[in-house]
Amino acid sequence: MIRISPSILSADFANLQRDLDRLSAAGADWAHVDVMDGHFVPNLTIGAPVVKALSRVSELPLDVHLMISDPYRYIEDFVLAGASFITIHAECDSDVLATLEKIRSFGVKAGLSIKPGTPVDALCDYIDAVDMILIMSVEPGFGGQKFIPESLERLSHTRALIDTSNPACLLEVDGGVSPRNAREIVEAGADVL
Ligand code: ZN
Repeated sequence: MIRISPSILSADFANLQRDLDRLSAAGADWAHVDVMDGHFVPNLTIGAPVVKALSRVSELPLDVHLMISDPYRYIEDFVLAGASFITIHAECDSDVLATLEKIRSFGVKAGLSIKPGTPVDALCDYIDAVDMILIMSVEPGFGGQKFIPESLERLSHTRALIDTSNPACLLEVDGGVSPRNAREIVEAGADVL
């Protein structure tokens, strides 16, 4: 089953409720929420208070992607805000395993992401501790970028790792996904777009 999780980075921030309703009406499975801290990536977006507001006005599960340097400090805030998934980066400054365990301790699904320059092998140590892996197919930081073609091979490699070590784990792709390239992305093994 393929799940569609459109990013609210592409929404009108003055009309988030309207745009979430449009996502629901269009058949989206989740809403992807890109949280950036201006430190892990050179851009600022939104924090837990906005996620909380989104969860109040929409039934869509919130797929929260933390592009922040020290996610461990903020896990409880995003849990209380109503996140269904919380994904952190393998390149962050927090203790990755402890942060994934903290997410799961609240009954929330834990995800782990890598940037385009990080080897897929960096995921191996954490594969049992995650419910989802997120492969960045653009450099994180800004919406509207073009899909990096080498991401397809990285998806296939990650799919093989998941099938061998943790078959229940989902594989999400993030960045430059469109109706034009969705088929080849799914064929490479992604199940959340
Ligand atoms: Zn994202």
